Amino acid sequence: MVECCGCGKVVDVAALQARQRRVLRIVLAINLAAFALMAAAAWHSHSSSLLSGSLDNLGDAATYALSLAVVGASARAKARVALLKGLLILAAALAVAAQIAWRLGHPQVPLFESMGAAAALNLAGNGVCLWLLTPFRSGDINLASAWECSRNDLYEGGAVVLAAAAVGLFGAGWPDLLIAVALLILFLRSAARVLGSAWREVRRAPAAAPAPGP
Ligand SMILES: [Zn+2]
Repeated sequence: MVECCGCGKVVDVAALQARQRRVLRIVLAINLAAFALMAAAAWHSHSSSLLSGSLDNLGDAATYALSLAVVGASARAKARVALLKGLLILAAALAVAAQIAWRLGHPQVPLFESMGAAAALNLAGNGVCLWLLTPFRSGDINLASAWECSRNDLYEGGAVVLAAAAVGLFGAGWPDLLIAVALLILFLRSAARVLGSAWREVRRAPAAAPAPGP
């Protein structure tokens, strides 16, 4: 089962057919590429919202990669992997939070050209993912939830594009920080939800070897 980036939907990869898994792999590759692009452009353009937005790409890529990897594993093993994933993306989120805090103390206007270019490419990537998943939207309940997650990503990608436009329009850094904080809060809320459900699953799932009775 896959917990997606925030909507709390699940994808059961074991139930998917080869064609559907292939789509999932492509969507995974696009998210990975978008993460690398956003993180590099965030560094180059000094944009916090790009960095915040890249967290979602990283989380989605990790989700799809792990779900493809653990097909057939026990519920307990899957829950442990989900817990590990949750902790990793939480650590990444804390690093982004630290970067935003530092930026608040050292304000800088991001280079909106490179920021806008990366944001637009990311939005295009989100659009391609949504388009790839659309044929499966009504056919398979698992991919329907991945489609819904992709649609949410489109809104988030749009917010980063708006941030870049506002930075260019006002010549100021505050729109970038505003969107960065908003995206980080959204991301932390969903990360906490994923971690909570993984933790409950780890505690509930039966161990591989039953404990000896009294
Ligand atoms: Zn997402």
